Order: sequence, then structure tokens, then C-alpha cells
Amino acid sequence: MINTSQLLTENVRLLKARANKFAVYGVIVAVIAVILATLLVSYNQFHEYSYEAFIEAQKTNPVLWVLDGMPYIFAFWGQHSSSIMAYEAGALIVDQTNELRAHTTTLEQKAAHEATHDALTDLPNRILLGDRVQQAIHTAQRDKYQLAVLILGFNDFKKVTNTLGRYDGERLLKQVAARLQGIIREVDTVARLADDEFAILLPKVGYKDGAERLAKKILTVMELPFELDKLSLGLQTCIGIAKFPEHGEDMDVLLQRADIAMYTGIKNNIDCITYDPKLDKHSPRHLTLMGELRQAINQGKLVLYYQPKVHLDTNCIREVEALVRWDHETHGIIGPDEFIPLAEQSGLIQPLTIWVLNEALGQCRKWNQAGVNISVSVNLSAHSLLDLEIPDMVAGMLAAHEIPSSQLVLEITETAMMADMDRTMEILTRLSNMGVSLSIDDFGTGFSSLSYLSKLPVSEIKIDKSFVMEMAEDKNNAVIVRTTIDLAHNLGLTVVAEGVETEDLMQRLQEMNCDTLQGYYISRPISAVDFDKWASTAAWKINGS
Ligand code: C2E
Ligand code: MG
Ligand code: MG
Repeated sequence: MINTSQLLTENVRLLKARANKFAVYGVIVAVIAVILATLLVSYNQFHEYSYEAFIEAQKTNPVLWVLDGMPYIFAFWGQHSSSIMAYEAGALIVDQTNELRAHTTTLEQKAAHEATHDALTDLPNRILLGDRVQQAIHTAQRDKYQLAVLILGFNDFKKVTNTLGRYDGERLLKQVAARLQGIIREVDTVARLADDEFAILLPKVGYKDGAERLAKKILTVMELPFELDKLSLGLQTCIGIAKFPEHGEDMDVLLQRADIAMYTGIKNNIDCITYDPKLDKHSPRHLTLMGELRQAINQGKLVLYYQPKVHLDTNCIREVEALVRWDHETHGIIGPDEFIPLAEQSGLIQPLTIWVLNEALGQCRKWNQAGVNISVSVNLSAHSLLDLEIPDMVAGMLAAHEIPSSQLVLEITETAMMADMDRTMEILTRLSNMGVSLSIDDFGTGFSSLSYLSKLPVSEIKIDKSFVMEMAEDKNNAVIVRTTIDLAHNLGLTVVAEGVETEDLMQRLQEMNCDTLQGYYISRPISAVDFDKWASTAAWKINGS
């Protein structure tokens, strides 16, 4: 890169060259003026235009002597002032360039910081911790020493947030972060992994039980009550420890094993546990699955099933919902209710969402190419509604698969939107402006009202299956469904009923003017191959085929 003094010299040279051009014009004008004046004087004195008269006029007329000095004065003055101006202008440009550079660097640093730090506590996030653990493993391998990862969680944090609310819960987490930062050495890292889960990396452990000693210190500090306004609160802390190389040789395994130790501690009311392979047997299945999920996503072990939705106005299938499953080597097909929460906890929800979107849009393209014109709906989790990159990612994927945005529906839940309304609103507005349809899933299970939903850029609600399925037995549920459909229509929203398991339910929903039906009576979620077979014999037409 050109440095400042080089830049200044170059700018001055360019500006001087331009200014000099005008100084030269000045000199030429002055010389012409001298010649014309001399000719006029010689004609006046000798009544002729000749070389001799010209020389004689120059020799004898003192006014011409003064005029003769003008080109020199112009040349000198032009040179001098152009140098000064060029220098000043050059310096101005350099100043502004430096200012711009400094501003850009600050913005770049800010963006890099935000990507690697937790917004609430400003501690490193899972991404930065992962990097640091990886680096620490390399150094520890080379220099042959031990490192440790501690994961810290709380027994009763959910109770605190349920009682005091999210705002106080966050204030409490900030205090926890400050205490942890106060206790560690400069070389160690404290990170926030999930809501109430923190991790500490000790890149070099001097003593065999160095990690356990630090854990005890942390527990002592955490025993002191936390102050929130006039409330004094105690938290029951639990720490899980995993060491390199003893308990694992890569970052994922170490973090997973520290997690297993911590959860075992929470379950058995033990405040500090070091990982032991025996814990695996007792560890809940979800902890083992959590460790395997990353590989499952990378190695294509996930599969997408599609469940058709019948539009009652045309009796036609115009849309399918993409529902993810995990084809697990030992456990068989695992449903999303089990592993989506794990993906959310372990920071894997973004790669999972990208995988699902890509797969669903790829399948949509195949159907389009086969002349089958159906839209796909994809479920977005709460975390995706806080991810400002989602709209650009969706736009990129739609373009890559050459799918018009009108063929994509994104399903979101009311509770997911509550986490950060402003940010969610921004993301939803951008998606809606792109032409993507938004639908509120599991409607009725959250807290929000229909009138509040009308302020959001959504076009559809899906009445939760619990209301629909119980309509047959419970009159109240039938009333709720009927009123919801009417109110939604009045607000310009279309209505999908989930969980339609019988013909009777289908007819009743039809009478209630529901727009679209989805449920086992029409079809269970099935693979794309099975969907094509089902479509050829189904009682409903498929749009376009
Ligand atoms: P959902 O979006 O409300 O999906 C509908 C669920 O209801 C599906 O369960 C479907 O199999 C089930 N269902 C449909 N019709 C009937 C019926 O007639 N009777 C009964 N009893 N159930 C019916 P599934 O596939 O287990 O999905 C569960 C939830 O997991 C989904 O609920 C959705 O919230 C989530 N999910 C699924 N795929 C994804 C995904 O790719 N990303 C995210 N973030 N979440 C997903
Ligand atoms: Mg859904
Ligand atoms: Mg649903």
C-alpha cells in the first residue's frame, strides 16, 4: 500500500503540473503584451515597424523596461503560488483519505467484534471460543501439556427468568459474566455459549488438578448472592470439566464432554464434575446426539420430508411443508422435535437452516422442471429470526436455484418472535419485501393476539394441531377454531389448519371456510420420491401436473 508521504508527493506533483500550465499561459500573455507595447511605442516614436525601431524603443523607453520584467514576475509568482496551493490541496486530500481509512478500519473492527462476541455480555461467543480452543490444542499438542475446558451452567436459572422476566435475567447474566472475568487469568478465555451457559478455556494447566482448583474458586465466588435492585438472589452453579488430551483431542469432543459432565452434575446436584467415559452411559441421549449433530449436517445424514397442503378453493395441492429428519445409524429416523432444540443450543441451527433451505429449494426446482408447480414452506427457528444475515442468505439461495420468491413460504412461531421484536420485525420486513410469504405456525399456542399479528408483514396463520385435533371432542375448541378463522379473514390473512386426521374434520373445516388443510388424512410427511408416487394416485390434483 502507498504510504502517506508517497501519496502526498504524488498528489503535489499532479497538482503542480496542472497549476504550472496556467503559469506558462500567464508568461506567454505577458510576453505578447511586451511585444505589442514595444511595437506601439516604436510606431509612435519612429513612425515605422522595423527591427531597428523595435530595438531603439526598447533601449530608450523606461516604461517598457518595467513591462519587460512582467514575464519574469508572472513566471516566479505562478511557480511559487502553485507550489503552495498544490501542497495545501495535496495535504487536504491526504488528511481526508487518512480519516476515511481510519473510519473504515473502525467499522471493520466493529463488524469483526460483533461476529465473535456475545451482544449481551461482550464476552467471546461460541465461534471465537471454538477458534481459541483449536489454537490452544495445537500449541498443547506441540509443547506436550494439558489444557482444560470448563462449562458452567445453573440449576434453576429458568425459574429466575420465569419469575423475574427476561430483563432481570439478562442483568443477572451480566453479573455472572463480570464475576467470571474477574477470576480468570489473562491467558484464559471466558465465553458465553447459550442463554445461561458459559465456558472457560484454560489453555495451559500447570497442575494435574489445576482445572478442578479453578472450578472450586469459581463456585466460591458464585455462592455470593447476586443483587438485583433490592432483591438478593442465589444461583446454584454447576461446572463440568473436560481435559486435553485425556478426554478428547478435538474441540467439538472436548466441549461436548464438558457439557455431558455439567449436565450430569445438574441432574445429580453435584457442583463440579470432571468428565468420565462412564458418564456417557448415564448422560441423557440428547447430549450424545448433540455431539453427533454437526457431523450429521456435514455428512448429509439429514433428510427432508414433505407434507402436502390442500387448498380448499381449488381442491388442489399448491404447497408442501418441508420437515427435517435425521437418519441416525443406531437410532433410526429421529424427529425434529428432538434435535432442533439441540441445534439451537449448540450453535448449529444456522448450518441446519441453510441445509434445509438449500435442499427444499433444490427439490422445488426439480418439481418445477418436471412441470409441477408447488411452493415449499420451510420452518424458521427462533434463532434464525435474530440472524440479520437470513434475508440475504434466502435471496442468494433463491437466485442460485432459480426459484421465484413467491414459491417460498417461511413458517415462524409467535414465541420465536418475542425474543427481540425490533430485530425480528426488520428481518421479516426484508423477507416480505423480497416477495417471500410469511406464515405464523402453531397459532394459538403463544401469547399474541390476532390484532397484533396484523401489524406484522405476515399473510397466513396455521392453527395449531392441538386445537384442530380436539375439535371433534371439545366444543370449545371448535368455537376457538371458527372464531380464529373469521377474525383472520377479517384481517386479510389466510388460514391453514394443521392436524387434519379424519374426513369428518376436513368437512367441518371446509364448512368453517378454512383456506388450506394439512394433516395425516391427506398425507403424512413423506420423502420426495414417495411424494411423487403419492401424487400420481392422490385424490387431489397437484398444481401444474
Ligand atoms: P410444525 O412446523 O408445526 O410441523 C407440523 C408437525 O405436525 C410435523 O411434525 C408433522 O409431522 C405433524 N403433523 C402434521 N399433520 C399431522 C396430523 O394430522 N396429526 C399429527 N398428530 N401430527 C401431524 P414434525 O415433522 O415432527 O415436526 C415437528 C416440528 O419440528 C415442526 O412443527 C417444526 O416446528 C419443527 N421442524 C420441522 N422441520 C424443521 C426445520 O427444518 N427447521 C426448524 N427450525 N424446525 C423444524
Ligand atoms: Mg411448520
Ligand atoms: Mg405447526
